[in-house]
Amino acid sequence: MMNVRFWGTRGSIATPGASTMRYGGNTSCVEVRSNNHILVFDAGTGIRGLGNSLISEFSSQPLTVHLFISHTHWDHIQGFPFFLPAYKRQSTIHIYGPPGRDKSLEKILKIQMDTDYFPVELGDMNKSIEIHEVREPVRLGPLTIDHFYLNHPALCLAYRVSDGKRSVVYATDNEPYYGSLHTPGGKKPTQSDVPVYLDEKFVEFLNGADLYIGEAQYTNNEYNDKKGWGHSPLEATVRFAVQANVGQLALFHHDPMHDDAFIDGMVSEASALVKNYQGATRCIGAKEGMELILE
Ligand SMILES: [Zn+2]
Repeated sequence: MMNVRFWGTRGSIATPGASTMRYGGNTSCVEVRSNNHILVFDAGTGIRGLGNSLISEFSSQPLTVHLFISHTHWDHIQGFPFFLPAYKRQSTIHIYGPPGRDKSLEKILKIQMDTDYFPVELGDMNKSIEIHEVREPVRLGPLTIDHFYLNHPALCLAYRVSDGKRSVVYATDNEPYYGSLHTPGGKKPTQSDVPVYLDEKFVEFLNGADLYIGEAQYTNNEYNDKKGWGHSPLEATVRFAVQANVGQLALFHHDPMHDDAFIDGMVSEASALVKNYQGATRCIGAKEGMELILE
C-alpha cells in the first residue's frame, strides 16, 4: 500500500489567498509513505506543514525522512529552512537530488541558507542530514526509487517509486522535447530524431504507473508564448499519461496566475482529452491536503 499526501501543489511562487483556497497556495511538496518509509518529494513551502505534522506525530521518537529534490529552483527548496525535523536530534534526513550546473547539491542548499539570506546555516541544523547526489536507483527495503532527467532550464529529475506492485511517478517542471528542442536546419523532427526519441523515453519511464503526479502548468494557448521555459502544456501531459497507460494523473505545479475556477476548467479539459485519445486515465487536480491511497 502507498499513501500519497499533497502538502504543496503550486508552481513558481507561493500564492495564498481566497482564490487559491481549494487547490492550495504552497509550492511543491508531496509525501509518500510505504512499508514504514517516509519519502518526500521536493521542499517547496508546503514542506513546513509536513514538518510540523511529523513533529506532532513522532514527538521524541526517532524519525527518518528521505527527501528527493527534483531540482533546486526556489519553489522546490525554499521551504527546507522551515522544516522542523531538520533541527531535531532524533531525526535523520537523507536528501537526494541532482547537482547544479556548476555547483554540488550541498553547496546550493548551503548558499540558500547563507547568513545574508537566512539566520541559521545548513551546518547548524541537525548533524544527521546526509546529502546524496543521485546517480543510480535508490533502494529502501522493498522500495525502489528510479530517476529520469527532464527537459527544464536546470538539471531536473523525475522520480518513480515502486514497491514491486504499485508505483507513483513524480515528474514536475518538464517540457516535452518535441517542439522545444530544435533539429538541425529547423526541420520538423521525424520519428528517428532526438526530441521524439526522448519523449518516448519519458513515456517508457511513466509506463503503467498507478499514479502520475505530472505538471501541466499551462493551457495550450499559454504555452505558445512560453516555449523553452521548461513547463508543459496540458495536452502533452495528458497525451503522455494515455500513451503510458497511467491509472491516474494528478495535475500538479499549478501556475500562480490560475485560480481555483481556472484549474477546475483545466481538469475537465484533461478528462475530455483522455476521451479524445481513447485512454482510460483518470484525471484529477492535485489539491493541498489531499490524500490518495493506492491499495
Ligand atoms: Zn517549479
